[in-house]
Amino acid sequence: MELVVGLDIGTSGLRLQALDAETKKIISTAISLHNPLPGSNVIDHLHFAVKAGSEAAHGIITDTINSLLKSLEVDLKAVKRMALCGNPTQMSIFQGIECRDLVFGGDNMLKRLGVKRLERRATVMNAGSLGLAINSEAEVYIPPTVEQQIGADALAMIIKSGILDQKKTCMVTDYGTNAEIGLKVGDAIYTGSCAAGPAIEGGEIEKGVLASPGAISDVSDLGSGGWNVQVLNNDLISQDSFSVNPQTGEVQEKFPTHFEPRGITGTGTIATMAVGFDSGLLQRLPPYITTPDGCIHLTKDQNIVFTKKDYLNSTRCFGAFKAGHITLVGKSGVAFEDIKSMYLCGASGTYVDAVKAQKMSLALPTVSDIYQVGNTSLAMANDCAVDPEWLDRMQEMANAMKPTYFAFIKDEVFKKAYIIEMDHWEHGLTPERRIVVEKRFKVPHYPEQRTEAKVHKVVLRDIADFGSKGLHIMEHAGIVLNAIFEECTGCRQCEKNCMPKALKVEEKDGQYIIKVSSEGCTGHACMKCELTCPARVFRFENLEFAPGKKAW
Ligand code: SF4
Ligand code: SF4
Repeated sequence: MELVVGLDIGTSGLRLQALDAETKKIISTAISLHNPLPGSNVIDHLHFAVKAGSEAAHGIITDTINSLLKSLEVDLKAVKRMALCGNPTQMSIFQGIECRDLVFGGDNMLKRLGVKRLERRATVMNAGSLGLAINSEAEVYIPPTVEQQIGADALAMIIKSGILDQKKTCMVTDYGTNAEIGLKVGDAIYTGSCAAGPAIEGGEIEKGVLASPGAISDVSDLGSGGWNVQVLNNDLISQDSFSVNPQTGEVQEKFPTHFEPRGITGTGTIATMAVGFDSGLLQRLPPYITTPDGCIHLTKDQNIVFTKKDYLNSTRCFGAFKAGHITLVGKSGVAFEDIKSMYLCGASGTYVDAVKAQKMSLALPTVSDIYQVGNTSLAMANDCAVDPEWLDRMQEMANAMKPTYFAFIKDEVFKKAYIIEMDHWEHGLTPERRIVVEKRFKVPHYPEQRTEAKVHKVVLRDIADFGSKGLHIMEHAGIVLNAIFEECTGCRQCEKNCMPKALKVEEKDGQYIIKVSSEGCTGHACMKCELTCPARVFRFENLEFAPGKKAW
């Protein structure tokens, strides 16, 4: 039997499927719970690729892909084609090509560095040249990017969500570390993107985990002072697990479908925020969390808490999505009231309680229908692997989308809308004052929510079908970064202050060796190890992934 493989390289993790080339049936699925590169967002991954070199970054990501391929339990020599999908950073790292043009946007800077801006058109490579553990002659299909910040994952979102079949004005969003948004008005597709931070995928949340077995995926208020907590089971189905007192973390009752929780995923974060506001445990002014100890407790047993820092990281992420929605509405010239339906993609877009997402402004306040459509990137990669003609179609579509693409980071409307959002979430901006600021900033008015949308769950899981050989989960993907700092006293403050427990101090022959696991470290967004070192000897930039090879 000949096989094809589809690969979605996400910033928070990789997903891969093997399919029968003839019947197109999915045979096996493998996912990693982390992206192996240090840090938890595109910026960190880009910095790593620039500092450590494209070759090193490519080698690390290839190792993880090869481990995932081997876990599929299929004949890898029978793979005749592989196709992938991802954002421009991950796709460039996969190919081992120049990334500096993705970091330094300005033409003058690129000229000074002698770096050419790459077009990143659709291309076909050879598996052997990429170091992939499949038949070395297999073709690897690499779809195009639209512009520097918007890649094949956004094309997948537009194509696979179904919005192209819609006659009415509609919006689509991929809930990921990058806010990718599309707005269809007639035949025109307006798109935009920006880094939103990983909170919506469970990153930069103290007890955050990617959507995986044991992840708290939803909470709801039982009305008796208790919250119902839903957890993803081994089949990634969200099910009622237990009830808890959110003020203390005391588990009140374990349900027959109890599944042991191990962390909170992005959708659990959205639900905690929505229910927290409804029940008065959250407010949009400091201290933000009104419980006696300033934390919402989702279970005392595993010490899964939601902290003030989690609140602030979540609101910065929600604010980026909302500012993106406002910006695209402004660019297209339509009114919010004209947009009646919204499509949510990605793992978080699938598992989220869409009504709670709408309450948190992650879906437009005006839409009456919300469709949850699953992981469009993996579905697109599979389509491309099965039918190679998709590559040309995607290139045509990328060309057509270029004139109406907006890089939010450079957009004045977005910047102002984001400032308003921060005022809203962190300083309790009132609706009356909001109207005044919107007028002054010439930002479209964001209406109040009047109706609750009808939710259509098109799929039950973000990956609808695991195939006959099922789902294979790679718990650990990453590398260890090392450093020995002269004059380090071995006090272990850096280890104690590392919330994700990614750092260890080991003593050998009288020296203290700092070891940082790349899969746990949240990188430049954190830096607590360096900031809290009493001897001021910790230098994050001196961490090495191999002797003499700096990671940052
Ligand atoms: S404390 Fe240091 S090692 Fe730990 S997550 Fe933060 S940056 Fe990474
Ligand atoms: S906090 Fe500083 S001095 Fe203490 S163990 Fe870490 S690096 Fe060494």
